[in-house]
Amino acid sequence: MHIKIKILFIFFILFFIFALPVAASEIQQITFVVGQPSYLVNDQIKPMDAATFIENNRTYVPVRYLGEALNARINWNQKTKMVTLYLNNNRVDLNIGSKIITVNGQTNQMDVAPVLKNNRTYLPARPIAEAFFFKVKWEKEGSKVVVFPPEKPAETNVLSETKGNSKENESEETTLELKTSEENSLTKTTVTAFQPIIDYKIFKLTAPDRLIIDLYDIRPGNLPPMVIVNFEVVSQVRVGWFNRNPDITRLVFDLNKRAFYRSCLSEDKKTLTVEIFTPKPGEEKLVVLDPGHGGSEPGAVGPTGLKEKDVNLDVAKRVKEILASQNIKTELTREDDNYVGLYERSGMANNLDAGLFVSIHMNAHKNRDVNGTSVFYYCYYNEQKAEEIVRQEKSKELADITQQNLLNLLGLKDRGVQQANFAVVRTTNMPAILVEAAFISNYAEENLLTQEYFRQKIAQAIAQGITDFIITQKA
Ligand SMILES: [Zn+2]
Repeated sequence: MHIKIKILFIFFILFFIFALPVAASEIQQITFVVGQPSYLVNDQIKPMDAATFIENNRTYVPVRYLGEALNARINWNQKTKMVTLYLNNNRVDLNIGSKIITVNGQTNQMDVAPVLKNNRTYLPARPIAEAFFFKVKWEKEGSKVVVFPPEKPAETNVLSETKGNSKENESEETTLELKTSEENSLTKTTVTAFQPIIDYKIFKLTAPDRLIIDLYDIRPGNLPPMVIVNFEVVSQVRVGWFNRNPDITRLVFDLNKRAFYRSCLSEDKKTLTVEIFTPKPGEEKLVVLDPGHGGSEPGAVGPTGLKEKDVNLDVAKRVKEILASQNIKTELTREDDNYVGLYERSGMANNLDAGLFVSIHMNAHKNRDVNGTSVFYYCYYNEQKAEEIVRQEKSKELADITQQNLLNLLGLKDRGVQQANFAVVRTTNMPAILVEAAFISNYAEENLLTQEYFRQKIAQAIAQGITDFIITQKA
């Protein structure tokens, strides 16, 4: 009895010593050893009440301890089985059993999914740490995952100076150069790589407003992780090694206000120029949003009973709210769960002399495996009326921009921009599209459509498609 108490006592003292926190700024490395119920911060042992394990070549760590080690705040939703981690203004969303990782609203695929074991959530260490700009190394000898915190923000204001820093940091190769300047409230950025930029992606995120440039097969080299510029439109630029193998360098421009961009790749494909600017103020024309179906007509119904009409209406209301915050006026063809005829919908837009018409639907197929995103517009090749030819061309432009935004934000399969003879897009007098954001008949996509964050993303993509289209018409 006496001995037992002594052992317990020692254990408690040990636990107390081990549990002393290490200040975030002093963390040099975090080590997880496969099979161990503890991890190391620098040389300090931190006990865990479960061990890390390997599955599908990835090391899994209990969510609580991974969050603790990285200093991230964790939010676990038992009902939706969603995990959210917050660290330094970055947010990462994950779903148990889903390989989709959402980093600051941008969807990506991991090669493995978070798992539930003995009622406990485990996350794959590497993709989570890398999402927060940590560097991760796998040491085969000793089966260790070693995590290094992101470098401290650089104190320089001039991005081009980063090239001069290379001598101080010889371990990192110079692969990328970044220059940014401001003229008449237009921010001009050039990204020069020392190899052709074969593939890149530019997209915007809102709340807060950001412009993201992903450069594929390019490493950030010795660019500093953050540069504060304090321009009128751009406040700072963050640089991250977003993915390894294949490499993705991500540049994040934190914006002070809603902005638009133009991009151009040089002929040798080594220099990407991106101009970021605010639109000239002007009277935007009314946008009519058309939530498909309603009332006695549910539209498609998902495998667990989710009705298309409800998702369409919710998404439309979210688009309306986003556009209202950008001073773009909208009207909905229905505000409630009621039946509205197809010609009533286009007729309403025509009577209101709307500038754009966007019909919102979710797709369905009798084969439940069919999935993905598509946008439809009307095109008639023998069209004689010049006005209608222009309208159809503009509809195609609106469809292209909206599809691109949907693909960027949702990360679903690209089913392309397609022509269709739908009444609502045929009988409208203004550029008109019909969005089929996802397949409600597909199990995984129906599940996504039940979730608020995903509906918000659809709305964001549609709203961005609309604003991008408006700005291209002004340029
Ligand atoms: Zn529909």
